Amino acid sequence: MTHEAGIPLGIRFKLLSDTPQDSAAQVVGDVVIGDYRDLATLREFARGCDVITFDHEHVPTEHLRALEADGIPVRPGPDALVHAQDKGVMRAKLTEIGAPCPRHRIVSDPSDVEAFAAEGDGFPVILKTVRGGYDGKGVWFVRSAKDAEEPFRAGVPVLAEEKVDFTRELAANIVRSPHGQAVAYPVVESIQVDGVCDTVIAPAPGLSEELSAQAQELALRIAKELDVVGHLAVELFEAVDSEGNRRILVNELAMRPHNSGHWTQDGAITSQFANHVRAVLDLPLGDPRPRAEWTVMANVLGGDYPDMYSAYLHCMARDPQLKIHMYGKDVKPGRKVGHVNTYGDDLADVRERAAHAAGYLRGTITE
Ligand code: ADP
Repeated sequence: MTHEAGIPLGIRFKLLSDTPQDSAAQVVGDVVIGDYRDLATLREFARGCDVITFDHEHVPTEHLRALEADGIPVRPGPDALVHAQDKGVMRAKLTEIGAPCPRHRIVSDPSDVEAFAAEGDGFPVILKTVRGGYDGKGVWFVRSAKDAEEPFRAGVPVLAEEKVDFTRELAANIVRSPHGQAVAYPVVESIQVDGVCDTVIAPAPGLSEELSAQAQELALRIAKELDVVGHLAVELFEAVDSEGNRRILVNELAMRPHNSGHWTQDGAITSQFANHVRAVLDLPLGDPRPRAEWTVMANVLGGDYPDMYSAYLHCMARDPQLKIHMYGKDVKPGRKVGHVNTYGDDLADVRERAAHAAGYLRGTITE
């Protein structure tokens, strides 16, 4: 989708991909199949590139530093990206700059978890591996010290967090360029099902102007303090404090086009992908404002996949405003294989149309 945004600008992409089946490898012309964890592969790949960017955050920080030392611009740079790679580093930095976070600590064993719980409101506590988690994998809700053994088995440092009693999850998406221009998209509500993002509503319904501005300002400040270049998604919890006031806390950061920004493809004047490309190339950023009152994005998860053609036929005929984005991935139960966007003036109607299309494409709705 980032490649697609570069096409009208005549920007040529070279892609390093794990396998020829990866979504981007199916559409980018110049593809190198290789392991992003191997420095020699990265160095060979980077030769002749004007700039390097990512669609995931897992390239080892030290390899990115080596590429920078070779004179290749890496955007976002490793010193920024490490905050999206390592939840421990992220929490420490956000606390240092005064960004509101859940109570947290790096813990080394179940008894440490018990002590962390006792210092706060007790169990349940959230445990997270600091690196390598995604879509809720690497996150445990633990109810006792006995429950807390599994996260330590992988030998990766573990971060303990208080369980936030949030009212909903929000995301503040911004884009920042190397010379410091930045744009902020409307703050969205993100609805998770079983730890996986299911639906995104833009803008977040009922969010006060004050909290919305606070979330955007926070995301812009984080981007500036961390020197982020490109798209930054700040995943947030909306919670109510002891005085009954709504407030926001940071859950985590993503430094690349993000699922909470997929709605912008069809719902904003400039999409997150187009603005990410512009930022990485240090071009002026495009207008982030929405095109419609409401845009809803619904993820299409793998399920009992119906015949694609008849699914398209039905979905397109039912909702002429619907935009379907499929990733060409093998269908596995629960795996994100695409998303749909739709928009309009009536939120309940827009939500129904998005949910219907996603369900129909998945095969959970048959009429
Ligand atoms: P991932 O890297 O897999 O996206 P997250 O840190 O975003 O992991 O956690 C996945 C989900 O777990 C979040 O979207 C949220 O629903 C829940 N969660 C994470 N941290 C907390 C917390 N401190 N309190 C309550 N729920 C949490």
